[in-house]
Amino acid sequence: MKWSLFLACAALFSSSASFAQDKQESADEPGKIALVLHGGAGGLTKETLPADQEAKIRGGIERALKAGYAVLEAGGESMDAVQAAITVLEDDPNFNAGKGAVKTSEGKHELDSSIMNGATLKAGAVGGVTIVKNPIKAARLVIDKTWHVMLAGPGADSFARVNGLELVEPDYFDVSVAMRDLDPVVEEYHFGTVGAVALDRQGNLAAGTSTGGLAGKEFGRIGDSPIIGAGTYADNETCGVSGTGQGEYFIRRAIAYDISARMKYSDDSVAKAAESSIATLTKDGGLGGVIALDRNGHIATPFNTSSMARGFVDTDGKVTIKIFAD
Ligand code: ASP
Repeated sequence: MKWSLFLACAALFSSSASFAQDKQESADEPGKIALVLHGGAGGLTKETLPADQEAKIRGGIERALKAGYAVLEAGGESMDAVQAAITVLEDDPNFNAGKGAVKTSEGKHELDSSIMNGATLKAGAVGGVTIVKNPIKAARLVIDKTWHVMLAGPGADSFARVNGLELVEPDYFDVSVAMRDLDPVVEEYHFGTVGAVALDRQGNLAAGTSTGGLAGKEFGRIGDSPIIGAGTYADNETCGVSGTGQGEYFIRRAIAYDISARMKYSDDSVAKAAESSIATLTKDGGLGGVIALDRNGHIATPFNTSSMARGFVDTDGKVTIKIFAD
């Protein structure tokens, strides 16, 4: 129950600082950039999240936005912006990704991550890695160094080692029990997964997700986060999506792809498509939310939990950070 509290209070503050000096072009013109992040859906409430914990969550989201947005502002690619933002969140122990990842029923850490390029539809993912400091980098390398989409388990750890990624001892991912004590639903679900979707000046979308999975999961369990179409999807024709919540429900409905498909085949806006997919999740009894960004920079962040830590920089360069619905 600790983590819910923890994330819940974080929504109180809404930042309106701007990282951009100049107004971006309107949403239907080329050259616009935008970035949206999440730090996990959960059961936090304003009443239960301590102010200091809220500040940590908000601070982490803000640092990640800055890292990703700097890439986009400099004319960099959306794939690099997504990787940069997620790396910051993986290194932050306040999120369930990289350092701070939850444990399996065996008391170990098994991390999942994926990234997808909306321009090429190339995607990379790793499942169940145990010694890779930044799983998002390993997911990216799967695209750059192999013809595969997903590597899992010991093979994925070896792949990271061979390709020179930074490795850590498994206990690197541990965080203090005190942090876990803040979440009221930690026994059942653990939220705090991270994700990012970016639109670069070339009009290319990318999306990525990284997680330690659900607390107490069976060892060997792979969630939605590294599964392309379930927890992550990006297609320049439609949108980029990263999900967070009960992964099994996201996998069954291919939620990330479902949002893209609704836009492609029904001409739905990104907001309508994302809301419809989350409504389906709700009907199924699943908990969670998504961040979605279309090729014109329109942002949608629907969720059916009491909290979803999230932040975005819109096409006007305006920064918003929230945890709760309002
Ligand atoms: N979706 C993740 C999983 O099921 C967990 C989360 O988003 O918190 O592994």
